[in-house]
Amino acid sequence: MNAVVIVGASLAGLRAAETLRRDGFAGTLTVIGDEPHSPYDRPPLSKQILSGKWGPDRAPLADQDALDGLDADWRLGVRASALDLDARHVTLADGTSVAFDGVVIATGARCRTIAGTEGLGGVHTLRTVDDCLAIRRDLQANPRRVVVVGAGFIGAEVAATARELDLDVTMVEMAPVPFERILGAEMGQVCADVQRDHGVDLRTGVGVDSISGGDRVERVVLSDGTELDADVVVVGVGVTPNTEWLEGSGLTIDNGVVCDESCLAAPGVVAAGDIARWPNRRFDEVMRVEHWDNAVEQGVHAARRLLTGEPVPYEPVPWFWSDQFDRKIQLAGRTRPDDQTEVVTGSIEERRFATAYGRNGKLVGILGFNRPRHVMQYRQLINDGATWDDAMAFARES
Ligand SMILES: Cc1cc2nc3c(=O)[nH]c(=O)nc-3n(C[C@H](O)[C@H](O)[C@H](O)COP(=O)(O)OP(=O)(O)OC[C@H]3O[C@@H](n4cnc5c(N)ncnc54)[C@H](O)[C@@H]3O)c2cc1C
Repeated sequence: MNAVVIVGASLAGLRAAETLRRDGFAGTLTVIGDEPHSPYDRPPLSKQILSGKWGPDRAPLADQDALDGLDADWRLGVRASALDLDARHVTLADGTSVAFDGVVIATGARCRTIAGTEGLGGVHTLRTVDDCLAIRRDLQANPRRVVVVGAGFIGAEVAATARELDLDVTMVEMAPVPFERILGAEMGQVCADVQRDHGVDLRTGVGVDSISGGDRVERVVLSDGTELDADVVVVGVGVTPNTEWLEGSGLTIDNGVVCDESCLAAPGVVAAGDIARWPNRRFDEVMRVEHWDNAVEQGVHAARRLLTGEPVPYEPVPWFWSDQFDRKIQLAGRTRPDDQTEVVTGSIEERRFATAYGRNGKLVGILGFNRPRHVMQYRQLINDGATWDDAMAFARES
């Protein structure tokens, strides 16, 4: 291979670039990113940078020397608009094109929005550093109330950060219990309690009918008729994979770029990170994973797949963390609401515990509240294919 193009200059794309160079790729490397910034880290955007504890200068994923060391042509601030697999080139929105032998697709995902809120001041989503700084400015302007729509992990972190700034926060969630579809009702309730214990006014089982105001947002009307005054609204209702630029390319697009088990989407084309959907044999499931750790690991795996041509299956145990107030919540594996569960260490009342999830006699997941060591131990057990009985025996012995 003489020329590789990476589309998406963020976590997965950067890790792919680093891997290609580390593993000996000496050809031309081009990285295309539609944001004007060099690769930066997103997790602090809902935590330290949003709260003001850190400046945005702490977000970059690599310093300039490290980026220069990759000897790549960085095309930043310009969108890739098309992929031509026959002519083997990527077209950019500025009309130029870049030829490739191999391409890494790492264009991630963007936030879903609520129709009708376009252009209404004070209504935000959170994906980019610019989104974060805009929300931060609004939080610092002493708002009367912050309304967070959606109690998923991003919403819950924004609510926690805003409460820590001593703001009045209402969080609205359509499901009866947050995270019920991932963690089950009991563990979802613990997540809800953490928010309520810290003064978040969490309204569950209710949707949003409208968000309105003049130039800026003034109120949120809920589906039960409640009207909430609001100066700031942060919408955290999930993401959409950035696949539009691939329409007509011949790749299979279905809630992400569909790959084989080794992350190959077509000959010479791999995908990684939030955009990639692939069959993870370990869980016998086709999945798309929106976690930091996956963007790192899959970026590395996809780059090697491209470089070596070897179809090594990518079969990680997905893992993520979320920081809310003084709790570090971690989840490894693939959990479902009807899995069997067992608290294997600590106590729910103290909000310091780990809960194992099992299905069909196997350990499939571990949820930890301030139990990072246990989460990693049980993640390793999942990785080793432990049965439920193995996991329970491990819990008794440790
Ligand atoms: C606020 C926030 C907090 C988070 N916190 C956590 C956490 O605590 N724990 C955790 O595990 N995960 C967390 N995540 C998730 C984690 O950051 C993502 O999983 C990770 O960023 C995915 O990396 P990626 O490279 O696949 O995609 P992205 O980071 O989305 O990057 C894709 C890049 O491609 C660009 N792009 C899109 N389309 C094009 C195009 N056509 N041409 C060129 N460029 C394009 C995008 O603008 C973007 O820069 C958080 C995410 C956010 C937003």
